[in-house]
Amino acid sequence: MANSTHGQLLDGRALSREMRGKLRLEIEGLIAEGITPGLDVVLVGDDAPSQIYVRNKERSCERLGIRSRVHRLRADTSQAQLEDLIRELNQDDSVDGILVQLPLPKGFDTESALALIDPTKDVDGLHTVNQGLLMSGYDGLRPCTPLGCIAMIDSISYDISGKKAVVVGRSNLVGKPVLHLLLQRNATVTICHSRTQDLAAEVRAADIVIAAVGQPELVKGEWIKEGAVVIDVGINRLEDGSLVGDVEFDAAKERALAITPVPGGVGPMTITMLLYNTVEAARKRRKKWGLSRKSEV
Ligand code: NAD
Repeated sequence: MANSTHGQLLDGRALSREMRGKLRLEIEGLIAEGITPGLDVVLVGDDAPSQIYVRNKERSCERLGIRSRVHRLRADTSQAQLEDLIRELNQDDSVDGILVQLPLPKGFDTESALALIDPTKDVDGLHTVNQGLLMSGYDGLRPCTPLGCIAMIDSISYDISGKKAVVVGRSNLVGKPVLHLLLQRNATVTICHSRTQDLAAEVRAADIVIAAVGQPELVKGEWIKEGAVVIDVGINRLEDGSLVGDVEFDAAKERALAITPVPGGVGPMTITMLLYNTVEAARKRRKKWGLSRKSEV
């Protein structure tokens, strides 16, 4: 049964508004110091959803006072031309963040292109240097969606330390980085994937569930431990056009302490964390980036 301590909705839109309000103040402070954070997005080809995502990012930057620039390249651009542009942006001191919108059209070598981005400007946090810094517990730029997941848990002042967290999905984009972010916050973490033998048993034991698979309602509501925090990253479009997550929302909500809806949960947080990373990159790069590491025992 839902009661006052159950079924709290983790509203990604509301949290995004709050976080962007704080970011705007931080940006005003930076601008007063003569630093205008700048994000450069590289868009290759004319994939329709990518055009919309890029427009949203541009608009979000403008609203906060981040200088944004979109470099539109034709689908028949060569890999060498794309790489030249990335090198140019690496050298440009007014550029704090470089984002290559994925997916690139067929024929491009995505890995090689991403590997060229200066890691201090890698606001998507996907460069292997940043992934390595995360794994080793050093400061660096973190992937946006995993950062958004942690921000949502923090928004209800839930103490992650010592809790058992289960991450479902092991992608480099979400599953693996979120595993390390939780580990840094002293959770005991299990990561599940397509070969996991008993997903239900793993989820039943979890105080925190993060689902990032891409299969509608794979995680059943009855698996959720009473009082667990449930973060649903999945976005699945059903035949009737509606969107659902990877978790059976209505049943899970009855048992969870707090849960993210789909849509309106993790989704809106991803762009917010991109803006956060751009400001973070501007601050660190222009005030000299230094490596620091939290102690672990
Ligand atoms: P992916 O396809 O790269 O990875 C899916 C993972 O799920 C794999 O590691 C696989 O092992 C695992 N998996 C597959 N079947 C499974 C099963 N039966 N049991 C357990 N694990 C299983 O996907 P991704 O890029 O990590 O994205 C996952 C979902 O999150 C997608 O729906 C995607 O659209 C969504 N997503 C949302 C945002 C956002 O901003 N909200 C951002 C990124 C991804």
